Amino acid sequence: MAGREDLTSYSYRKARARFLAESDICHLCGHAQADVIDHVQPVSKGGRADDPDNWAPAHGINRCPTCGRNCNGEKGSSTGAPRLLTSRDWYAGP
Ligand SMILES: [Zn+2]
Ligand SMILES: [Zn+2]
Repeated sequence: MAGREDLTSYSYRKARARFLAESDICHLCGHAQADVIDHVQPVSKGGRADDPDNWAPAHGINRCPTCGRNCNGEKGSSTGAPRLLTSRDWYAGP
C-alpha cells in the first residue's frame, strides 16, 4: 500500500521524530521544542544527510516559541529537509 517515496519519507519522519523526541534543544538558539533537523556539517560541504550523528535539532518555519526565530531558516546554508539520496538504504532502523 505504499509507494517508494511514501516509505522513504515515512521512515525519515519516524527517524526524525525519534531524534527530536530524544532531544529537542535547538542547537542554534539553545531553546527547547525544536521541530526540524539541521545538519551540523552541511550536506553541501560533505556532511552526511543520512547520519543521525550529523543531525541537530533546530527550529523551522514554526519558529521558536521562546525567542520567535526561524533558526534553521535564518541559518540559510542548509535549509530544508535533507534531500532524498539515491537509492541507498540510508536508514535501516526499526
Ligand atoms: Zn532555535
Ligand atoms: Zn529560541
